[in-house]
Amino acid sequence: MRQLILSGLIAASIVPASACAQDVEIDTNMALEHMRVLAADDMNGRLTGTEDAAMAREYIAGEYFMAGLLAFEETWDQPFTYRRPQNADLELSGINLVGYHPAADGSASGPAIVVTAHYDHIGNCNGQICNGADDNASGVAAMLAAASALANGANEHMIIFAALDAEENGLNGARELVEYLQGLGIEMALNINLDMLAFNEDNELAAAGAFHHPFLRAHIDAVEVPDGVTIIQGYDSPEWGPNGDWTFSSDHAAFHRAGIPWIYYGVDFHPHYHSHTDEFDVMHHDFFEAVTETVFNAIVYFDANLQSVVEAHAEADAAPSPSAGPDTSSDARPAGYTNEDGRYIKPGMEN
Ligand SMILES: [Zn+2]
Repeated sequence: MRQLILSGLIAASIVPASACAQDVEIDTNMALEHMRVLAADDMNGRLTGTEDAAMAREYIAGEYFMAGLLAFEETWDQPFTYRRPQNADLELSGINLVGYHPAADGSASGPAIVVTAHYDHIGNCNGQICNGADDNASGVAAMLAAASALANGANEHMIIFAALDAEENGLNGARELVEYLQGLGIEMALNINLDMLAFNEDNELAAAGAFHHPFLRAHIDAVEVPDGVTIIQGYDSPEWGPNGDWTFSSDHAAFHRAGIPWIYYGVDFHPHYHSHTDEFDVMHHDFFEAVTETVFNAIVYFDANLQSVVEAHAEADAAPSPSAGPDTSSDARPAGYTNEDGRYIKPGMEN
């Protein structure tokens, strides 16, 4: 068993995952299959607003059905419109898929864990299909497998699963989701965002977010990690360099702006990022399966420890220290590495 070194206060409040949730296992092989399907050529790179994205949604909805996810409306579809700053006259539309497992007591008002993964990608690049196996068929795949592993009500708290649209062109689906859930009056205790889980030469998986909510650090360390994955906490502050602060680089940014604690799991940028070579066959399959198990362990762990997260967040908000609360001032991000939507743009990928 791994030795954990924890600060006294948090160590005392950390509890192991509940007995019933501990019995639940995730089918990582099934996650691999989800990634293969979502990153196949017939989905044409899942560009938002296209029939290809609709095909991805159809697959995801089928898995939501199998997992027994409930819907807030008649279906899991959550259509929305948005505008991009560079063309404010043009109204665009997107569709998130939002489902949930209610809390053990049947309630659906929170405190909730919101698991997010964007399903859209960039379609074609330079005339070739960019399949986005890592970005982000992998995150959706892990999320679907997690939803299905919890199908029999092993969770204690409400867990919301959201496959988000229009991430690539400005994190639009996430912004919509946060407003939507706020409108329903749901208490969002924690966002776990999954984006790019399947490729790293060194088997390293970043876990970002504790810089903004330091009480998360010991919790993230307490999540059981299988062989084949090394967790690197960080990538969430200026000290990680101009391309290394990912606070605004994926859908968790919408939760950050709303003051909701978040953890982003993802790999570092690699040569296949936003390239036609981001293919299923190129991915590190063993690593991805171990990562899938890791993020599932995180969901189960935070479900068991959610009350502690809620209390620590409330205490941090009440404390006078400026570093303890959500750092919304980070909206003034350094220029030159994120676009006007707040999205990280790899050098040379500005279009
Ligand atoms: Zn992505």
